[in-house]
Amino acid sequence: MNTLSTVLLKPGEADRVLAGHPWVYHGSVLRLTQPANDGDIVQVKDHRQRLLGVGFYNSKSKINVRILAPDRIEVNQRFFEERIRASLSLRQRYMPGATSFRVVNSESDSMSGLIIDKYEDVLVLQTSALGMDRHKAEIVAALQSIFSPRAIVERNEVASRKFEGLPDTSGVLVGELPPSMQVKLNGLAFETDLIAGHKTGLYLDQQVNYRLVSEFVPKLPGAQVLDCFSFLGGFGLHAARAGAAHVHLLDQSADATEAGKRNAKANGVEEQCSFENVNVFDWLKTQTASKPNEKVLPRFDLIVLDPPSFTRNRAAVGDALRGYKEIHLRALKLLKPGGVLATFCCSHHVSAELFQDVILSAAYDAHKLLRRVATYGQSPDHPVMPAIPETEYLKGYAFEIVR
Ligand code: SAH
Repeated sequence: MNTLSTVLLKPGEADRVLAGHPWVYHGSVLRLTQPANDGDIVQVKDHRQRLLGVGFYNSKSKINVRILAPDRIEVNQRFFEERIRASLSLRQRYMPGATSFRVVNSESDSMSGLIIDKYEDVLVLQTSALGMDRHKAEIVAALQSIFSPRAIVERNEVASRKFEGLPDTSGVLVGELPPSMQVKLNGLAFETDLIAGHKTGLYLDQQVNYRLVSEFVPKLPGAQVLDCFSFLGGFGLHAARAGAAHVHLLDQSADATEAGKRNAKANGVEEQCSFENVNVFDWLKTQTASKPNEKVLPRFDLIVLDPPSFTRNRAAVGDALRGYKEIHLRALKLLKPGGVLATFCCSHHVSAELFQDVILSAAYDAHKLLRRVATYGQSPDHPVMPAIPETEYLKGYAFEIVR
């Protein structure tokens, strides 16, 4: 093994790393014992020269080191094979039967800067850190040996690559993509665009919640369902399959709306579904507009709110909260007594407590009393590591309208 450069930390900066957080910020670094090239493996030591771990170095990033292991390791194909097999076995334990899921979720799987999604027999890869990106060929070889996939696709146009000095790039790395991909989630088929779709294709982090939310449908006979921010129809189509009398799906993207329609058809639930290509804020406003002394007639038994993150940073949390409050206030007005609101927030900067506070304040304004009947998190293929708060972002609740 070659000698590695050593990154020495300032006093007091080792605790987070010792607790399991893989990031070493620029501000924590005292000095380097010898110059290191960006993308190289370095060792990290505390100011008393105790080894804390080894990881990828990048002077261009605010995160100077992304730790991979507590001890010295060789980063090669075998390393990736072992790590990826371990994360795959976690998914097999917690999501038995799933055929599409996130195989590697970056920090959650001790591979900071690497995401691998499995869509049936196709793999989608994203490298958002320079060191990881340098090892793309070994990662691809490891994936071929574990999965023998039909194709491996690169989706590297994430904003975070810029902070690492990496250009945007995407395309097929290995094999051939079928013209149209049908991805199975809980046995339902979703047509997915792996080259141009959201995230790396569709929202795998809601897979378990699709099923859990659809379990309300049999408890609400003749259920009228509203799926807001429906994208490909994840929540709505699960509700339709569970026996909803009718599901109305709303999304402002015309492409998503059309794909949703095709998905409804492919799953034989198109008769129960209607689609509207609208802005949810405008739609809810129109539906809840009333003259003085007039009451809005509640007509839904189940409403799902699964908006995109309204804030990417802490500074915009105030605006985001106003947005969350508005859609909750209006959705609550449209729910019948005994009906259920299933609502999600995927912004890391809005905590579960804060999210619930906003919903409560909307309920107060709407004169509704809520009973919380479920709490949700991201599916287990996006593991939450409490020592790494950034790994937790998706939270959700289901509330029954008491009155
Ligand atoms: N519920 C979906 C994911 C939603 S992602 C699922 O489980 O797959 C967010 C979706 O909201 C995207 O499809 C986007 O097109 C849509 N969207 C964003 N802002 C919107 C708005 N103001 N009105 C309607 N749709 C919106």
